[in-house]
Amino acid sequence: DYSVVLKDLNKVYNNLLKDDTVALKDVNLEIGQSEFISIIGPSGCGKSTLLKIIGNLDKATSGEILYKDGVNQQLGFVFQDSVLLPWKNVRENAEFPLVIQKKQTKENEEKLDELLELAGLTEFKTALPRELSGGMKQRVSIVRALSYDAPLLLMDEPFGALDALTRDHLNEELLKIWQKTKKTIIFVTHSIEEAVFLSDRVVVMSPRPGRIKEIVSIDLPRP
Ligand code: ADP
Ligand code: ADP
Repeated sequence: DYSVVLKDLNKVYNNLLKDDTVALKDVNLEIGQSEFISIIGPSGCGKSTLLKIIGNLDKATSGEILYKDGVNQQLGFVFQDSVLLPWKNVRENAEFPLVIQKKQTKENEEKLDELLELAGLTEFKTALPRELSGGMKQRVSIVRALSYDAPLLLMDEPFGALDALTRDHLNEELLKIWQKTKKTIIFVTHSIEEAVFLSDRVVVMSPRPGRIKEIVSIDLPRP
């Protein structure tokens, strides 16, 4: 059962002073429900462009995207440098989407506290962002992206700015959260190790920009 299907996607950026940039070229991909899929490839190969187009933050030049019912109305996004509201504490930041969407039901609030617990943030609920390390802030932004019922989570190098140890730690926690919540996750990284550790499948993009070079299924047992 699919979550998102990409059909013949092409993206061309028209530049004022130089030749056009082909950022995506004939991309075809079917992403399953509850699948953890990574996209890897060198800088400039089109990873972010692909993620933005899936997330409706940008438009393809041609091609088609099919979303399973409701998937494109509710997306969670986590970027490399996620912005937290500095005057709100950890719990308030994580709760923010629920407040905006007026979905502060008892059930959602309990789920939020569960996610904070899973992410190791229970003791820091009342801490302000400026009191947190980079790793802690990224945890808050992950919980925030998971706090409402977005079936699809898009992550663009979420741990790219962190040291290796913190990163390993957060990868393990992300896997636990994914196993528990069964979201579909599309995860952009340029670490092959990270992609193999986390994913069901790895989409390798070609340095000849915009093309999928191959799609590798990972059969290693998960921790
Ligand atoms: P990656 O995420 O793999 O580093 P990007 O998707 O950011 O790759 O970029 C793919 C190509 O598109 C690159 O050549 C980049 O310079 C170009 N590009 C990205 N965004 C724009 C833009 N807004 N305008 C023009 N060119 C862009
Ligand atoms: P992470 O815990 O995401 O790996 P760090 O390695 O920078 O991030 O954090 C080191 C330790 O410092 C963590 O185990 C955490 O418990 C603690 N810590 C981080 N921020 C605070 C804070 N605001 N108050 C107290 N302890 C903190």
